[in-house]
Amino acid sequence: MELVVKQPSAKKRKRSRRLFVRTKVCRFCSDAEAELDYKEPKTLRIFLTERAKIIPRRISGNCAKHQRKLTLEIKRARHLALLPFTSAHS
Ligand SMILES: [Zn+2]
Repeated sequence: MELVVKQPSAKKRKRSRRLFVRTKVCRFCSDAEAELDYKEPKTLRIFLTERAKIIPRRISGNCAKHQRKLTLEIKRARHLALLPFTSAHS
């Protein structure tokens, strides 16, 4: 019988809590110029993932008020086909 030498279990790597430096302030509160509007899909697109999902508040850093507005405007824009519901089907 072969003796199996167990390797010392690799200690679980401590993951750094925040991989990305996130913007803590809501960009719509800080920037009066930035407007939330379904007619501005360029602005809304920043808050969509590759698969066209809306980025959650804890990541985007938006305040509750603006996140609510954001989802509403994104949904409006989707309805008008200015934004995708999902990534393109292949
Ligand atoms: Zn805000």
